[in-house]
Amino acid sequence: LRDQLADNRDLPARTKDGQALELLANINGVADAKSAVAMGGSGIGLYRTEYLYLTHASVPGEEEQLEIYREVVAASPSGSATIRTLDIGGDKTVPFLGREKQEANPFMGWRSIRLSFEHPNFFLTQIRAILRAAAPDKPGDPPKAQILFPMVTNLEELRRLRAIVRRAEQQLLNDGKVFGKAPFGMMLEVPAAAVMIDELVKSVDFVSIGSNDLVQYLMAADRDNPKVSHLCQPLSPAVLRVLAAVVRSCNQAGRPVTLCGEMAGQPQAFAVLLGMGLRRFSMSPAFIPSIKELASHLSISTAERLLHNALKLSTTRQIRSMLNKELAALA
Ligand code: PEP
Ligand code: MG
Repeated sequence: LRDQLADNRDLPARTKDGQALELLANINGVADAKSAVAMGGSGIGLYRTEYLYLTHASVPGEEEQLEIYREVVAASPSGSATIRTLDIGGDKTVPFLGREKQEANPFMGWRSIRLSFEHPNFFLTQIRAILRAAAPDKPGDPPKAQILFPMVTNLEELRRLRAIVRRAEQQLLNDGKVFGKAPFGMMLEVPAAAVMIDELVKSVDFVSIGSNDLVQYLMAADRDNPKVSHLCQPLSPAVLRVLAAVVRSCNQAGRPVTLCGEMAGQPQAFAVLLGMGLRRFSMSPAFIPSIKELASHLSISTAERLLHNALKLSTTRQIRSMLNKELAALA
């Protein structure tokens, strides 16, 4: 098994018919960045910075954040990383940022950018640290970090986020700090944003689909509650239709789109996502070798046929069993 893992890890990230893919890693800290390398990932597609805050007794300062972001960037196989601003709330709390009062519906409440907007100093500090980590080694090189904002719901928020990034850049200029023009991206994980993606995509440099949250919000089924896990299913026909429309809009607008939810590492889901035209996937490092192996047996035309078949079916169970049968016949 170990030999097989090693073989798969070293496979090129390419489909059977030679389409290049980006298989990136989701990480929670520097140690995971090292496993991204060990598992054959080509870069860091999602760094969840909330873990940095969860392990601290108070807000980490700009220099401290910068040091960690630089370590993550340096450990990334591509030499760059997509760094997501704090996504606290929902199931995760940090006492020093308020939220000491329990909310009735935390996943629909004061979470991620909604919370960061109300802590402007702390938010600017984080954005400044990310922009500084994005500074290229020499002028003209690409930036070493991308900045990603979680839980974007509407255009007003994107405008507000742009203004905060501009303010951070201005501050850094005034302070004489070196920084990079980090591409500006949004997580697509709120159904309202999926409905409006045609408009929103024009205001961002890239999109990252957070299917874990998108599925729970679309199905109104808590991602962590086993009682409703039969509903919280990425292969449900409703989810597949929404994802297909989002990927099409992003591709039409010429904006890079990645999917960074857990489904990216699940074989059946990976196959239909490929059929939708998705070429960039970010997942837990452990799944990268097996997805590379699957891709080597799967051509784009087959993936498109699987998606086409899936979209004709009306239940999750039918979709899953069709995909299982088709994937078993591949090798
Ligand atoms: C997601 O929602 O799919 C995602 C990748 O973000 P998180 O799991 O951190 O909410
Ligand atoms: Mg999410």
